[in-house]
Amino acid sequence: MSPPGRIYLIGAGPGDPGLLTIKGKVCIEQADVIVRDYLANEEFLCYAKPRAEVIFAGKKGGESHIDQDEINRILIDRARRGKIVVRLKGGDPFIFGRGGEEAAAAAAAGIPFEIVPGVTAAVGVPAYAGIPLTHRNVASSVTFITGHEDPEKENRLVSWDKLPGSGTLVFYMGLGNLPEIAEQLIRHGRAPDTPIAVVRWGTKPEQQTVVGTLQNIVIRVRDEGLRPPALIIVGEVVKLREQLNWFEGRPLFGKRILVTRARDQAVEFTELLKLYGADPVEFPTIEVVPPESWDALDEGVRRIEEYDWLIFTSVNGVVYFLERLRAGGKDIRALRGIKLCAIGPRTAQEIERMGVRVDLMPDEYVAEALIDQMGRQELKGRRILIPRAAVARDILPEALTRMGARVDVVAAYRTIRPTRDVDWVKNVLQARQISVITFTSSSTVRNFVDMFGPDEARRLLQGVAVACIGPITAKTVEDYGLAVQILPKDSTIPSLAQAIVEHFTTHST
Ligand code: SAH
Repeated sequence: MSPPGRIYLIGAGPGDPGLLTIKGKVCIEQADVIVRDYLANEEFLCYAKPRAEVIFAGKKGGESHIDQDEINRILIDRARRGKIVVRLKGGDPFIFGRGGEEAAAAAAAGIPFEIVPGVTAAVGVPAYAGIPLTHRNVASSVTFITGHEDPEKENRLVSWDKLPGSGTLVFYMGLGNLPEIAEQLIRHGRAPDTPIAVVRWGTKPEQQTVVGTLQNIVIRVRDEGLRPPALIIVGEVVKLREQLNWFEGRPLFGKRILVTRARDQAVEFTELLKLYGADPVEFPTIEVVPPESWDALDEGVRRIEEYDWLIFTSVNGVVYFLERLRAGGKDIRALRGIKLCAIGPRTAQEIERMGVRVDLMPDEYVAEALIDQMGRQELKGRRILIPRAAVARDILPEALTRMGARVDVVAAYRTIRPTRDVDWVKNVLQARQISVITFTSSSTVRNFVDMFGPDEARRLLQGVAVACIGPITAKTVEDYGLAVQILPKDSTIPSLAQAIVEHFTTHST
């Protein structure tokens, strides 16, 4: 017997994907069917089962793709067929979300349902705008109100005369009626200089806030061209934002940063950028894949005992080497007596994760520094294995060979240029929506330029700050006739993120 179907009405929070509840996430993971509206962040779909059915139930500015009856029918129909149905709604399902109607329809149909509360916009958005809804001595009450009202309607839902004369007021869906709201509040006794804030897309990287008074807010909002969805907050608490505006005050707030790293390596970087308030956009110009053939690496692994040194130039080199070591029936014990060398702290970390120490890591994270330090070792007749990218700079093996070493360079992986998202990136660059582009290796630069052609690439990057991880990457950028604005002192991801922050705090734009 199949388990009985059920409906979960889940609050997805106001926008920041981190504001979904743990229970909400678990429900999404189990769902067979997900019905979402436009306020619910689509990033949550990554938690869904790959075969889950996803239905978009629209609703933008009151205009629905599917009407409410139809949504109710879909929810009930799927649950009757034994499915776990998740209805994902922006904010909280029971606050101005028609969650009550959907739950009532489920109850009437005898379908089991559960409500998973969410962070409603009136709670999440002011928090991210630096406005405490209540504050000792400033506001001791808060009222949530719908501002979406037809002024012609006879039985008006908002009774202006019954709204509290003090305390905080929060209006949902009120942007279209802002003139009416401001006017009615003044007419019913609020001072014309009462502070008011209008926040669009709160808690998201594109959050935009306009602050004014009941008297001037309409003009200010019009001047800023603010559009829905927006939340309106009225009351003295709005003033506290001057001191508490933490979210928009972060150094990279509102900056969209194009990250050209391979997707599986981008996470560390994008997480750091988010901490600084940036909106990182992943655009992998590189994908790491196995080499055309494993033969060379497998041969190196087979004869590993003959080597004196093993040099890794990247994390990928370590990862693929270990994979082939295992495939060859060996493990790290086969590395006994072999000296290990790493370029860059991340590469060293990857080696040390297997529980062995790195013998040599140059102070600077480029091949030249390694050559310099290897030069102090006795290399005559020594055998060196370098598992690395199929195509890479030859200066390291050449220099080591000149020092008398016998060097085998073997392909451990290769990088290819993905073709996804090229048009999309072109559009956002053309629309001047990108503040910074980051390059973390010469191949990310070459691939980026190859995607568009050098002239077009130069044109697209006009006005975009170019950030490079290190001098070699920067040189590649400059060889294409582009200028590098951001270059960290040491070539690591945290330093690169730091350098981007410094760029914007010193050249405040
Ligand atoms: N159930 C939702 C509200 C749906 S009504 C909740 O609990 O939040 C839609 C209104 O919510 C929008 O018109 C806007 O006023 C407000 N809203 C929702 N998300 C918002 C956001 N991220 N920023 C600003 N306003 C938001």
